Amino acid sequence: LSSKLTFNGVSMNPVNSTTTFNFINGKYCDPVGEDWLENINPADGTLLGRIANSTEQDVEHAVIAASNAQSNWSESTLEQRSRILSKIGDLIEENIESLATIESEDSGKPIGRARTIEIPRAASNFHFFANAITQFSSESHESVGQNAINFTLRQPLGVVGCISPWNLPLYLFTWKIAPALAAGNCVIAKPSELTPRTASMLGDLCNQAGLPAGVLNIVQGAGTGAGQAILEHEKIKAISFTGGTATGEHVARVVAPKFKKLSLELGGKNPNIIFSDCNYERALETTIHSSFANQGQICLCGSRIFIESSIYEKFKADLVARTSQLTVGHPSKTETSIGAMVSGDHYRKVLSYFEQIDPADASILCGGKPGTVEGHEQGFYIEPTVIEVQNNQCRLNQEEIFGPVVTLMPFENEEELIAMANDVKYGLSATIWTKDLDRTMRLSKKIECGVVWINTWLMRDLRTPFGGMKDSGVGREGGLEALRFFTEPKNICIAFEN
Ligand code: NAD
Repeated sequence: LSSKLTFNGVSMNPVNSTTTFNFINGKYCDPVGEDWLENINPADGTLLGRIANSTEQDVEHAVIAASNAQSNWSESTLEQRSRILSKIGDLIEENIESLATIESEDSGKPIGRARTIEIPRAASNFHFFANAITQFSSESHESVGQNAINFTLRQPLGVVGCISPWNLPLYLFTWKIAPALAAGNCVIAKPSELTPRTASMLGDLCNQAGLPAGVLNIVQGAGTGAGQAILEHEKIKAISFTGGTATGEHVARVVAPKFKKLSLELGGKNPNIIFSDCNYERALETTIHSSFANQGQICLCGSRIFIESSIYEKFKADLVARTSQLTVGHPSKTETSIGAMVSGDHYRKVLSYFEQIDPADASILCGGKPGTVEGHEQGFYIEPTVIEVQNNQCRLNQEEIFGPVVTLMPFENEEELIAMANDVKYGLSATIWTKDLDRTMRLSKKIECGVVWINTWLMRDLRTPFGGMKDSGVGREGGLEALRFFTEPKNICIAFEN
């Protein structure tokens, strides 16, 4: 990354800096109120630095910058936008190592995951939407017999707000920003205050790629300050939000009376369904991944495992054995499979579920306690945990724990399975392991969720619609859905004379 940034006249590099600034109108700047939050390293509890804690004044500055940049950006050609977005993707790829290191430090995720999956995906988000915008088309309808033709314009919304969570920081931040920019909008974006630094580094990469000043503005800080100000600002036309369901409900309440466009990608409590006719080894191997990847802090993790009763005992024993072999370790070590939880608060929240287990509902088969990593005793580690559950209504099976924790329950038949799988407020994704094609279709149609994976997990094609139903969200992102969200369709009817 370039080291040409200046702050208060001092040249600085955002990678090495211990201060995370706002990025407004193409420049790094400190928050108007000079208020700062601490950035804690979850791997050892040490202080990584300070983060701008922005208020409505900072959001106002960002909106002014974005509004000034808007007309030039929305009138730029698709080729110009595509070239710049593609260049941003290239620069992310060129900087994978530094971005992955910072991402891992901020979040506690194993560096290997950041390096091979998440930062490359952030680059793909830009590459994908750089291409997608050149293929985005609209409809026309001839009113035959009435001498008229209708066509649909897809116009940029203007200034839009993107708010993202901490679990897949740059991956989800760019998943919103790339389509918003591609569609010709200017953006006010806020990453999670727990993982601010790779988002901050993106500002510099955008400058290097030639993105005009003001087109992307990054406002750092707490949700209740900067985030709330984004929701409330009258000039911000749409909100794309990814985060927890409770926050999403609040976002909807604030935004609905203002009639902003709203996309909500929220929590999940996803069933992972294992039938006896599955490819057993693949199902077991992938289940380890879908249970514990990123310490279980992925909205798509299969946290409720339902196993056909004829193989229940065997699968349970094998899963517990494999889980016990996973290495809890420092995120910077390549051999680590389970890194640190993102924060002390989240760590304590996950542990509290173990303390409150009612023996009539469930019993812990392995894990269920803090992990110990020598030399890093102040880090927020939790052992990967498998819990056998007797009662589908217990908190363990109803609430999103968002940690390295899965529950097991047997089922006898499809009817019982569907009833249990759907008996939660969430509806994000489901995974089904079976070789029976008819069954895959029957179940896929009946399970209440937005994404179904058959004999795989988290295999993503960026053209597909992504999102959830019930309390897991409203609307879809991904592919052309995202470009539709970030544009206003306007029908134009032209009458003509024969
Ligand atoms: P969160 O809801 O606490 O925070 C998400 C973002 O919202 C953060 O940037 C936060 O600062 C901001 N925020 C908080 N209060 C706000 C307010 N009043 N106004 C505006 N913004 C506010 O979520 P989190 O803990 O960061 O993320 C974990 C959650 O995200 C989990 O529930 C997970 O399932 C969900 N998630 C969903 C998806 C999906 O695609 N469905 C993807 C990833 C994560």
